[in-house]
Amino acid sequence: MGKSLRSQISLYIMTIVLVVVALVSFLANAAVNRQFEAYMINQERGRREKIINDLENLYNAMTRSWDLDYIHAIGMYSLYDGYVLTVYDSDGKMIWDAASHDMALCKQIMGDITERMSQRNNNGFTTYSYDLLQGDRRVGTASIQSYGPYFLKENEFQFVNDLSEAFLVIGLLSCVVSILTGTILAHRIARPITKTAEIAQQISNGDYNIRLENETNTRELNMLLSSISHMADSLSRQEQHRKQLTADVAHELRTPLTALRSHLEAMAEGLWEPTAERLNGCVEEVKRLSSLVVDLDGLAKLEQDIFQLKKTESNLLEIVQNVSRNFEKEADNKQIRILVEGAPSSILLDKDRIVQVITNLLSNAIKYTPEGGQIKVQVKDEVTRGIVMIEDNGIGIPQKDLPYIFERFYRTDQSRNRKTGGAGIGLTIAKSIIEAHKGKITVDSNEGAGSKFTVLIPK
Ligand code: ADP
Repeated sequence: MGKSLRSQISLYIMTIVLVVVALVSFLANAAVNRQFEAYMINQERGRREKIINDLENLYNAMTRSWDLDYIHAIGMYSLYDGYVLTVYDSDGKMIWDAASHDMALCKQIMGDITERMSQRNNNGFTTYSYDLLQGDRRVGTASIQSYGPYFLKENEFQFVNDLSEAFLVIGLLSCVVSILTGTILAHRIARPITKTAEIAQQISNGDYNIRLENETNTRELNMLLSSISHMADSLSRQEQHRKQLTADVAHELRTPLTALRSHLEAMAEGLWEPTAERLNGCVEEVKRLSSLVVDLDGLAKLEQDIFQLKKTESNLLEIVQNVSRNFEKEADNKQIRILVEGAPSSILLDKDRIVQVITNLLSNAIKYTPEGGQIKVQVKDEVTRGIVMIEDNGIGIPQKDLPYIFERFYRTDQSRNRKTGGAGIGLTIAKSIIEAHKGKITVDSNEGAGSKFTVLIPK
């Protein structure tokens, strides 16, 4: 037993969604980070340039001196922001230095930033040097030490962390949603297939009583379901057919066998004189049984290869004429006239099988027509089909029997009484052959007046 279809589909869907979610989260995160870094680096450069700009404004061109108090103020607030400033005058003499001003504070601020940023990179502090200008004139220099190429303040760092957390939450949520949708989708896809498998299983267990639920919305599945339903129908019909055939055969064999047995037993026990007449009666029964077996054999063969017709282009009129000729002697014996007329009709058909159909119909017509009767056989050629009509003026078929005479072993009461009938298979065989040709066979009859069988074979 493999894994269930449902769990496999769930697994596929979930894997696909998880891979997509992971990929999208990763790429989005990377893209946001890159943009953010570029923005921060730019921002950083701007902040440093602003400090230098502020410093340049503190030079008094008249007195050619620096306002040290203000430089101190700028140096301190820059330090709190994470920029360690050193300022030199035009002679290169240091006039303000954050480190020497408050070494401890410098160390603490630089330590805080390094610690915070070490979670992202290990770049360390970089020193940037600038000229302090008044117009074109260099009035001093300054150096700014800052964590490069950018660093995050406490609140910025918090923001970046929050963003990463949000990505994580979105990713996790997507996973949950993917598992849920995967399971639901898998259930929806797998259900009709599982149902179909169950139905097939049911059929293979011999239960053809299947009930199909509503159609699914998948065309291929609907096709599968309807094929299975047809298969079940046909299997069920075949089984029915087989049972019926067995019952019919048993029934047909029982009566002559019982009669034969009781006659023979009576003679063997000396109750009956085994006269020639009685023995002949037994021989007649045996003959009937033999012919029944021959008929059954024919029926079995026919049912076996009814779908393998060997079709050739044949003239229907010619076939009918030939078969009639074979019956000439039999008809003569009963002084029955067979009249064949009509037009040639060329049709693609299995000649041997159609000969069998006409033979069965003509033999019936002779059997069930009293001496001196007449049989008319007509062949018609139409654009799309050929027609054969065999009409006799014999005993006819009672109205109540008409719907059944094509059934296996069916015989009318008259034919049973007259002992002329065969096993009741001739018309069944004729009908099967004509239907295999996609044609039709019908009967029209009046009791006591005669019968007319019509055979239509499409071209
Ligand atoms: P059977 O071997 O008994 O003739 P068929 O299948 O050929 O079997 O025919 C079935 C029954 O239909 C016959 O037993 C007979 O009662 C009736 N039947 C067939 N053809 C004719 C006919 N031309 N005239 C009267 N009855 C007929």
